Amino acid sequence: MNDSGSPINLVHRYFEQQSELFGEGFFSGKALVKPFLIRDDSEYKVNRRDITVNNSETLDNLYETIKDCTKCALGETRNMFVFGVGNPTADIMFIGEAPGRDEDLKGEPFVGRAGKLLDKMLESIGLNRDIVYIGNILKCRPPQNRDPLPTERDLCEPFLIKQIELIKPKLIVALGRVAAHTLLRTDDTLKSLRESTHNYHGIDFKVTYHPAALLRNQKLKYPAWEDLKDIRDNYL
Ligand code: SF4
Repeated sequence: MNDSGSPINLVHRYFEQQSELFGEGFFSGKALVKPFLIRDDSEYKVNRRDITVNNSETLDNLYETIKDCTKCALGETRNMFVFGVGNPTADIMFIGEAPGRDEDLKGEPFVGRAGKLLDKMLESIGLNRDIVYIGNILKCRPPQNRDPLPTERDLCEPFLIKQIELIKPKLIVALGRVAAHTLLRTDDTLKSLRESTHNYHGIDFKVTYHPAALLRNQKLKYPAWEDLKDIRDNYL
């Protein structure tokens, strides 16, 4: 029986639309608030096809294993799967939240204006895309570039963890608040997260600004440079 017009489904659809527009909050008419959020995982169960990555011994094996993934609904809407780029034995991994429009079209993380700025940030401490590894938590683009949903994170994060296990970096750098919050399961401020070295699956983990934030606010460039110097002085 089709019950898509039932009150529960209508309420669910409402929150789903709010979530797509405003991340985990919704607009009450006066302010963006973060209430309980109804999530129905059924769409993920429908699409879920378990993928075992334990046998992947190289990044190429892993890519072949997961490149057609449809474990979550983003697998149905992506243009391109965005695995990651760079040195398979990099000492430093930079991780963003998810592909955006340009990345989804090109199949590569951090392209477009933010990507060009990331390249300049790397150059400023003697690095480039061939020396480091760059990836995202989610391999497929969320609609309207909304934040990753916890369900999507939970389904996709094992792929990132496997990438880390294969690359064995000395340091992981989260680019931006959303990547840091998603991986560290915290809602601490970006400022406070930048002040410490964290741990993610046994690897040192630091947080800095997303290059798109630096494009929006020039004043953040100096503290971002401080973060880069800290990385250069302690990990290169
Ligand atoms: S976002 Fe991750 S879990 Fe979802 S379909 Fe893409 S690769 Fe699979």
